[in-house]
Amino acid sequence: AKAEGRSTWRFFEREMDAELQARRAMEIDLRAALDRGELELFYQPFVDVARQRMSGFEALMRWRHPTKGFVSPAEFIPVAEECGLIHAMGAWALETACGQAAEWPEDLAVSVNLSPVQFKKPGLADDVERALVASGLAPQRLQLEVTESLLLQDSASVIATLNGFRDRGVGISMDDFGTGYSSLGYLNRFPFDKIKIDQSFVRTIEANESRAIIRAVIGLSRALDITVIGEGVETREQRDALVSEGCTEMQGYYFSKPRPANELAQVLIEFERR
Ligand code: C2E
Ligand code: CA
Ligand code: CA
Ligand code: CA
Repeated sequence: AKAEGRSTWRFFEREMDAELQARRAMEIDLRAALDRGELELFYQPFVDVARQRMSGFEALMRWRHPTKGFVSPAEFIPVAEECGLIHAMGAWALETACGQAAEWPEDLAVSVNLSPVQFKKPGLADDVERALVASGLAPQRLQLEVTESLLLQDSASVIATLNGFRDRGVGISMDDFGTGYSSLGYLNRFPFDKIKIDQSFVRTIEANESRAIIRAVIGLSRALDITVIGEGVETREQRDALVSEGCTEMQGYYFSKPRPANELAQVLIEFERR
């Protein structure tokens, strides 16, 4: 039994080594990707169904790998966070998104995802400021998306940074609401103007529990003057259920998948024709 235990352990170590090596390899690749221009932003609209219009687009990072094709951000963002590359990649995303949005019609906003890791180093506020100044984008058209895990960090410094953005006129959204260590108490301690109900609730909105949670979140948000966005809407039924709960801002494949920047004019035209 002892020998068996040892060999299991050795097997485990080999597996760990392989995983670590794969991460290291991706880290090196990713560093080069940023320099070689292999990163790109796709955009997914958010829709105001009450007014039947698209109100803006969320920037979602894509890595066009020369041999592997598109690599998912779910794979490469965690690696970038671990090795610190997320700071440079995040600054690039802010600058690119603001630059592209500055060319859109002025009633369209752009939303950029921020990793909690980006708040751990000074310089994030400068990155945002630089992106605004370089692009000339009105700060009111920029929205920053943060996740609940951020709220577990040193909250005084996080709140100060978020308040700085708000003072500048930039909006703050809480992303994936309901998946983390959410507490409804966060909603008035942090300066959010939007919360995005995670797609796991929207997908199961037909179930009573999900619907009750969505209803509670919408009720509270209304009291706090926070806009609620339903994420991951894939069907007409989900769209209608959200509307009947009083949520009219949405995102999801039902309206549009994320698309390259040069296709957004087409996305808007197609939507107007529906
Ligand atoms: P997220 O911010 O929650 O973005 C929503 C994800 O759901 C996107 O996946 C989007 O393509 C997908 N999605 C949208 N509508 C639907 C739908 O109706 N059905 C389904 N099944 N999926 C839908 P994506 O683009 O693969 O991004 C995954 C995650 O990677 C993002 O989740 C975000 O956490 C992270 N990410 C993406 N871009 C960036 C970035 O520039 N910076 C940072 N820090 N994270 C990013
Ligand atoms: Ca997001
Ligand atoms: Ca989300
Ligand atoms: Ca997510």
